[in-house]
Amino acid sequence: MKPTLYIVIPCYNEEAVLPITAPLFLQQLQKMQSMDLVSDESKIMFVNDGSKDNTWNIIRSLSEDNNSYIGISQSRNRGHQNAVLAGLMESMNKCDITISIDCDGQDDLGAMENMVKEYLSGSEVVYGVRSSRKTDTFFKKTTAEGFYKLLNLMGAEVVFNHADYRLISAKVLKEFANFKEVNLFLRGMIPLVGFKSSSVYYERKERMAGESHYPLSKMLALAFDGITSLSIKPLRMISAMGIIISIISFIGVIWAVISNLMGNAIAGWASTVAIICFMGGIQLVCLGVIGEYIGKIYLEVKNRPRYIISEKTYEE
Ligand code: UDP
Ligand code: MG
Repeated sequence: MKPTLYIVIPCYNEEAVLPITAPLFLQQLQKMQSMDLVSDESKIMFVNDGSKDNTWNIIRSLSEDNNSYIGISQSRNRGHQNAVLAGLMESMNKCDITISIDCDGQDDLGAMENMVKEYLSGSEVVYGVRSSRKTDTFFKKTTAEGFYKLLNLMGAEVVFNHADYRLISAKVLKEFANFKEVNLFLRGMIPLVGFKSSSVYYERKERMAGESHYPLSKMLALAFDGITSLSIKPLRMISAMGIIISIISFIGVIWAVISNLMGNAIAGWASTVAIICFMGGIQLVCLGVIGEYIGKIYLEVKNRPRYIISEKTYEE
């Protein structure tokens, strides 16, 4: 039996790129249908993430033109991760497999064929991995690769150079639906669900039109969110630092007492001030990190909905 595929595509202010890439998604879907890889009930699902431009109107008119296109709209902008989650959760009960992909045409659509083939040969999750970043600027490439290294160093295990282009089977999604956390970092959470997985390699291209929504500041915020959602290593590092500094201070105290007893204590104003400032700084940093975790707990206990869908192009 051919699996039914839902391609889930988050879109935020993408009026410039959607008219270019939407037909490419359709072409790719039809190609896979003609190759007998996926069923004729397969769909392309756009998730409008509270766009302020014409994106939702474009999605609506696409869905009127061709019934392979469907769309859902979030009640407001909630960010890429929530948009992908909304699409995955909505499609979970309608299909056998989902593929999530950005709408800007940067990820090679052709890789979907290999993803479906990997699924047919037994993988429940297939990660799309960028084999090179030839078209990324030097800055984007180094910051992006630094992002993955930092995450792994801090205990958030992610597949290197894999973003949110991946195939997930409905079976895995139904288990994933039990991960109730509000702070989402999908690429770190999906591996936690387990099941057999594999990777498909592809080349990342340039955005076809419009601008990136992930400048350095957002990438750092995502990295920090990823780390604090997936690992408590920063807290451990604070404890380790505390122990090391305590040992050094203890040695310092003994040294001070001995030199005082031997009568050669010097007026060490500069060193005292330096130590006080240093300790003050470290304590503030540690408090900040602990505060981040408390903030996360605060957001989690409120247990607010992770997405709210205000409109759909189809009837349930
Ligand atoms: N996106 C979204 N909500 C947001 C920001 C981005 O749904 O608040 C979508 C966007 O439309 C695109 C994808 O997430 O399909 C990736 O964004 P972008 O291409 O700007 O990021 P980059 O590829 O530069 O990292
Ligand atoms: Mg992009």
